Amino acid sequence: MKKTIQDVDITNKHLFVRVDYNVPQDESGHITDDARIRETLPTLRYLLERNAKIVLAAHLGRPKGKRNEKYTLKPVAARLQELLGQPVQFLNDCIGDEVVAARERQRAGTVILLENLRFHEGEEKNDAEFARALSVATEVYVNDAFGAAHRAHASTAGMVSFVKERGGAAVAGLLMAKEIEVLGNLLMNPVRPLVVIMGGAKVGDKIGVISNLIDKADTLLIGGAMAYPILKAMGKPNMDKSLLDPADVDKANKLLSTLQAHTNWRLPTDGLLTDRDAEDARVEFYSVDNFPPDLRAMDIGPETIQAYTDVIRGAKTIFWNGPMGRFETKSFANGTRAIAQALAESDATTVVGGGDSAAAVHQMGFAEAMSHISTGGGASLEFLEGKELPGVVALEDK
Ligand code: ADP
Ligand code: MG
Repeated sequence: MKKTIQDVDITNKHLFVRVDYNVPQDESGHITDDARIRETLPTLRYLLERNAKIVLAAHLGRPKGKRNEKYTLKPVAARLQELLGQPVQFLNDCIGDEVVAARERQRAGTVILLENLRFHEGEEKNDAEFARALSVATEVYVNDAFGAAHRAHASTAGMVSFVKERGGAAVAGLLMAKEIEVLGNLLMNPVRPLVVIMGGAKVGDKIGVISNLIDKADTLLIGGAMAYPILKAMGKPNMDKSLLDPADVDKANKLLSTLQAHTNWRLPTDGLLTDRDAEDARVEFYSVDNFPPDLRAMDIGPETIQAYTDVIRGAKTIFWNGPMGRFETKSFANGTRAIAQALAESDATTVVGGGDSAAAVHQMGFAEAMSHISTGGGASLEFLEGKELPGVVALEDK
């Protein structure tokens, strides 16, 4: 358990708040989804009510250590100002004289947003001098960027020791605290039965999570394109036409030896097959024992949907990562929709992780019905793999 902004005195203090404002933008730089900005508002309002002096820092895109106007956080400052209903001062850099002077002048209850941290090489390199420069004047360091917590960067990890050196505190924001609490409970003491559903595109990326969660889950359901290399490793015919990275078959073999020591897991028993990825493509259902050589699987079939939703109905805690099929094409979205709907109708604690899974749940209108949709794709997976996240480790224990 980590200390939060509710555990330290922040009144009138100089705060450095690391946030995740890595928002999607269109070609002309307009923000197409401001969810990440809105999600920080509870933390910011809490801090402003206590008259803190807030300095916000974030990254946007991959400018690779160089100033690049394409990745400026200026539009984010404008949107934040609208959402917050009070001025947000934007500074053209995240370190240097201008920043130091602005911080010295800063009045209580005001907000400054610094320019993109990744305009400096030192951010991703976790350079000590850059980290020290970021820490200037900070009395309380707050991390509310769960999505960046799996990276040991200057703003997520390196600067914390400099803040502490000067007697400052390092705590979690409300969003970060919620993520640690929900995902921590899921790992440490879930209400049982715990059902874990893993899908999506790559076994390679998720093998660590499956290996860790197979011991903790009462039932593990596997779907999506991730199932094909595992089915192939089991000797099922004609998986190669479907989305299947040859490199994943080796990994699937390894995973299979882990899985075979357990009995609490299921693979799809049938699939939806087609000859092309199109709305009007003809679809047929086949058992995984009989996939035809000329067709590819795009979704789980009706028998699997029935079996998986039955398991979900009996669950008290559910974690879902990875769509069951190519849901972006409507004719292949039924499996993903059925799972999302089963979660939405369940009275279990439901946690969704992963960018595409979260997008599916939003797009299909089930987001409000979930207990928690994680804001960190990679970070949530590393957390559930049992890895320590540098951005979490750096914060003070309760
Ligand atoms: P998340 O972002 O939720 O962790 P992934 O990135 O691992 O999920 O995978 C999501 C992608 O997997 C989606 O774009 C989806 O279309 C694709 N996918 C899942 N199943 C299939 C399939 N059977 N055939 C093709 N693509 C699939
Ligand atoms: Mg994804």
